[in-house]
Amino acid sequence: MTVQLDPARVTQVSSLTAQYILTQQQKYLPRAVPVPLSQKTAMAGFFSPQLLDRVRILVLRSERIADPDFYPMLQGLGFKSLPAQSGMAAITLCDVVVSHGAFSNGLLFHELVHVEQYRQLGIPRFAELYVRGFLSGGQLRSNSFGSERVLIGWPIRVGSE
Ligand SMILES: [Zn+2]
Repeated sequence: MTVQLDPARVTQVSSLTAQYILTQQQKYLPRAVPVPLSQKTAMAGFFSPQLLDRVRILVLRSERIADPDFYPMLQGLGFKSLPAQSGMAAITLCDVVVSHGAFSNGLLFHELVHVEQYRQLGIPRFAELYVRGFLSGGQLRSNSFGSERVLIGWPIRVGSE
């Protein structure tokens, strides 16, 4: 089932998503730590030194990231398969990356691409593209990157900080 949202509703959901990102970032930032030197070294050349120094990471041990509190509203509009944040390997909240397990280099690399996207786009625009990606087909796909279709296509310019 495809659900269409009118432009005003897309704007509203994008704004709520941006608020969710900001709230979660502030919640996890106090416990987050810098990227270990060994992984900074592994990522050097792909991301700017400033980005690698600024980003903070957190591995959750006995808690899961909470879903946005506007999910019930979206479900009321007909969205049946919203991406469960608790089921994601990790989530990037601007420059704070929160994971449900240890950071492999592959996982960290993927999330650092999002950090760079946030840097270039800002939280409001990042949230809007995420929501638009989801609405343009993410809900019809079973893979967790369905909601990232628009973001994955975003041409990032690495090292331009
Ligand atoms: Zn991603």
